Amino acid sequence: MRDSYGGYRARLIEQLRSNGISDLAVLRAFGETQRHLFVPDALRHRAYEDVSLPIGMGQTISQPTTQARFLQALAFKGDERVLEIGTGSGYQTALLTHLVEQVLSIERIPDLARAARRALQAAGIHAATVMIGDGTLGWKPLAPYDAILVSAVSPSVPAPLPAQLADGGCLIIPIQDGERQELRRLVRNGNDIVHHSMGAATFVPLIGVHGYGDQTAP
Ligand code: SAH
Repeated sequence: MRDSYGGYRARLIEQLRSNGISDLAVLRAFGETQRHLFVPDALRHRAYEDVSLPIGMGQTISQPTTQARFLQALAFKGDERVLEIGTGSGYQTALLTHLVEQVLSIERIPDLARAARRALQAAGIHAATVMIGDGTLGWKPLAPYDAILVSAVSPSVPAPLPAQLADGGCLIIPIQDGERQELRRLVRNGNDIVHHSMGAATFVPLIGVHGYGDQTAP
């Protein structure tokens, strides 16, 4: 991809590699996604730093290493249908379009959803749909999903989500556990759900019917 940020992107990829990201498809997705289109103009000069950045409305674009760990853990084959909850800037949505066939993303704050749609369009990405709504309910009409990724921390696993996983499908969600947040991976095996821990995490609150109420968010 030719733009004036190519050198910065290459450096970000080196950073991801040194943080243990080795999946070539994931590294390629970072190489193909213009993160500077997904951050506010005033922060463009910092777009390829491996840090989370504010995107307005009290929300943040996640740290690239955190997102890369998410994506590497999912080991996509390329033909999956994925539900993303918490579009935010749309950057992770864009990364996903390079790794799977279909991405459906839900954002509760309308201004962010609209900005994410504009950024995806500017990046020439058409394989993703951004919807406005409460992602804790999932999105039944297109279920089941091969993977569901939740980009905001919840007090517990929202009940509708495991129910919308395909058999063998995987849900990744940060859960608040006392003072700390833990990233969990749930895999559906028939009617069983198997839980795995993926270590500590830092996310903004998931606000919705099956997440935090507006007033109870930490
Ligand atoms: N991965 C994103 C960062 C997301 S920050 C990125 O790359 O930019 C988490 C987002 O989740 C915020 O935009 C927040 O508004 C949204 N969110 C919180 N609760 C939600 C809910 N119930 N449904 C949908 N989106 C939600």
